[in-house]
Amino acid sequence: MNKNEYYEKILSTNDTPVLIIDLAIVRQRFLFLKKLFPMSHIFYAMKANPHPKVLELLNDLGACFDVASVYELKNLLDLKVDPSKISFGNTIKKKKDIAYAFSKGIRYFTTDSLEDLEHIASHAPKANVFFRVMTNGLGADWPLSRKFGCHQDNVYTLALRARDLNLRPYGIIFHVGSQQRDIGQWDEGVSKCKYLFSLLEKEGIKLKTVNLGGGLPADYYENAPSVEVYAREIWRFLKEDFGEDMPEVWLEPGRYLVGDSGTLISEVILISRKSNLNMTRWVYLDVGKFNGLMETIDELIKYPIDTDRKGQPSSCILAGPTCDSMDILYEKYKYQLPEDLQIGDKVYIRTAGAYTQSYSSVGFNGFPPIKTIVYDSEQNVIFSDAN
Ligand SMILES: *Cc1c(COP(=O)(O)O)cnc(C)c1O
Repeated sequence: MNKNEYYEKILSTNDTPVLIIDLAIVRQRFLFLKKLFPMSHIFYAMKANPHPKVLELLNDLGACFDVASVYELKNLLDLKVDPSKISFGNTIKKKKDIAYAFSKGIRYFTTDSLEDLEHIASHAPKANVFFRVMTNGLGADWPLSRKFGCHQDNVYTLALRARDLNLRPYGIIFHVGSQQRDIGQWDEGVSKCKYLFSLLEKEGIKLKTVNLGGGLPADYYENAPSVEVYAREIWRFLKEDFGEDMPEVWLEPGRYLVGDSGTLISEVILISRKSNLNMTRWVYLDVGKFNGLMETIDELIKYPIDTDRKGQPSSCILAGPTCDSMDILYEKYKYQLPEDLQIGDKVYIRTAGAYTQSYSSVGFNGFPPIKTIVYDSEQNVIFSDAN
């Protein structure tokens, strides 16, 4: 079956909005990344798409996992994921959650503060610790700066303190910001790692790992370089800084692995104009910020959007279905949709596999969280609704 036949079949038993994930794409992305980073460990940042079928697939392919909470951890343990393949990457966590993770066999923790480091030392004795160094997030469509990480001088202090607390200073992590278009941002991150590796070595602390975080792009409306170019450049930065003394490399991709696997199918509820003279149509969809398209906040992520109509494209404002005026998807940037678009038509929101279902509200205005249907175009199977 081709893609549209799968969609037709799924729509025959499911209403819109529905997020449709092709596991074959996730598999291809993972295997390709593995080829580009052959000796490295790939920790899937599961917050991007925690659907059990996605987790199972990646687990079977040999991926490791980065979790942000004990709830994500429990989901992995339910799927029988080996705890030695899981790292607790969130720098903000309760003491009892550290203790729980440790009791389940988690031995990798990330920190960016003395307070959290002390909690780790008391509740996860002798654990391996990553220190998160701050980046500025420039060049990223979805920046992650400020809230996470700390200055490299602070990392230095934390690593010395970790040793005193009987923890193992294991590596440095940075995250350049999600959907990062500027590959040079990794250059800066890698140099900070090198600086800290050298400085700490003088203190007798031999770090093992550089964790490159996330940031690899999915294929949205505006292009990013291909991931081969990212890999080539990132290896060049690592070689320039570390030479023969290459550290172990970890990556934590989220968006790259799952973004392109998803299409969100929506229906046009209404098309209207705000005044007799205004040329711009308002197109209201049955999906919006609160049931899947959170990342349209400030119009940061621009999804490719298409329809089955062939008419002349013209500008419109796209909005969601709820009674909240925040629920406008794109107004500053004018999407072009066919003139002959009709109420009731399907609208295909592409590259919607990451940060959609997991970001959708539990029932704002009564709209349920978006439903996900998973299929595998390589194995020719549609899985029944698992969430
Ligand atoms: C969200 C997150 C990731 C994944 O980022 P992407 O840009 O989606 O690849 C990786 N690491 C950490 C610590 C994160 O919080």
